[in-house]
Amino acid sequence: MSCQPVRGTRDLLEKELAQHHHLVEQAYRIMPLYGYQEIETPIFEYTSVFQRSLGEASDIVGKEMYTFLDRSGESITLRPEGTAAVTRAILSAGLTQTLPQKRFYKGPMFRHERPQKGRYRQFYQLGVECFGIAQSFVDVECIALANQLLQQWKIQDYTLTINTLGDQESRQAYRQALINYFRRYVQDLSHDSQLRLERNPLRIFDSKDPKDQALFPEAPAFEDFLNASSRQFFDQVLKGLQDLHIPFTHNQRLVRGIDYYCHTAFEFTVKGLEAAQNTVLAGGRYDGLMEQLGGPSLPGIGWACGLDRLALLLPPCLTPPSSLRIAVIAMGEEFQSVALQWAQTLRQQFFSVEMPFHGNVSKRLKAADKAGCQIALLFGEDEYKTHQVKVRHLMNDQLEKEKLVALSDIVSYLSSFRKA
Ligand code: ATP
Ligand code: MG
Repeated sequence: MSCQPVRGTRDLLEKELAQHHHLVEQAYRIMPLYGYQEIETPIFEYTSVFQRSLGEASDIVGKEMYTFLDRSGESITLRPEGTAAVTRAILSAGLTQTLPQKRFYKGPMFRHERPQKGRYRQFYQLGVECFGIAQSFVDVECIALANQLLQQWKIQDYTLTINTLGDQESRQAYRQALINYFRRYVQDLSHDSQLRLERNPLRIFDSKDPKDQALFPEAPAFEDFLNASSRQFFDQVLKGLQDLHIPFTHNQRLVRGIDYYCHTAFEFTVKGLEAAQNTVLAGGRYDGLMEQLGGPSLPGIGWACGLDRLALLLPPCLTPPSSLRIAVIAMGEEFQSVALQWAQTLRQQFFSVEMPFHGNVSKRLKAADKAGCQIALLFGEDEYKTHQVKVRHLMNDQLEKEKLVALSDIVSYLSSFRKA
């Protein structure tokens, strides 16, 4: 048996786990300010949930999903993203009657991709979905929420790029123009893009192949195919961002890799990561999605961010947590039970307590120091007779190294060393 985790997956230990927790904790503070409530869906769904929503031609459905038949012969897929699952859950709970629905989620997602730094087969996303508001102000609000989070997380040097994919009429016209253009160069296109040309030519812009990219500058621009209402919608979104002083770049080549997007599409990229993995948060409007999954026609917008990539950008000094750690040490076997009782009392008062138990007292003190304890309480006969405990400061040189404190005062004594 191999001890290695499955390729593209990894165990999260102290540092990374603390970073993930930090990211999520900050999100818990910010989400309610914008009216978002949490939702948690299963990590697997019937395959059709993703097939119907993401589109057969998407990279995710085409080559990245973990799909298998379970023991009942049902086709099951480990969720590759959150939007389709949340949409399914809202439908299933009958929540489309109570609008708007503003939900956020977090958790692992699964995609069979080539693993590299910032790209894993099990990775973690945090995302929001808002259903039931068609007006452009909610696009602005949704981006403002992402922006506030990135600031709260102290992510440096990020850029917001935005584009419009227009309404269906505009997309249809643009699609035809792209087919006409790329057909002239079909021989020069990569194999993937030749397939995209038939299924969804907009996706050619997603290609990272230099041969494809060479054809982009001369390709027709979406702007020239937007109808008046799509253009007006996009102008309102851009004006809203300007009003909130959120800087952005308009990039006409920004497309999203999934079928259900329309109108606003956006992404936040950072300088600190490799170009192929530098998008930390991405989203857009998906007005047709709910209907595609068998529900009513309801507008929707959302985004998802990659916690693994964000964690790579956080300062390492985030950990360890700064709470006071106390060592409770019995000076002799007969004091072990009284030491345990005091450990329990302190834990109930939210102190973190270590109980080193190997070797003599000096070995135990060394172990306490190694475990990061700032203070040790030593329980022994003399002290116990006088209802006192010996307190030893392990780290702070300014303080008296050792003193006796009355047992009745010990909680308040320790509390005075707690960090704010
Ligand atoms: P990319 O172009 O990097 O493959 P994507 O368009 O497939 O991204 P989305 O489906 O929009 O990504 O997911 C939103 C975010 O989730 C991404 O911006 C990224 O931060 C993160 N993400 C996506 N796939 C992975 C992965 N395999 N490993 C780690 N993070 C990922
Ligand atoms: Mg991808």
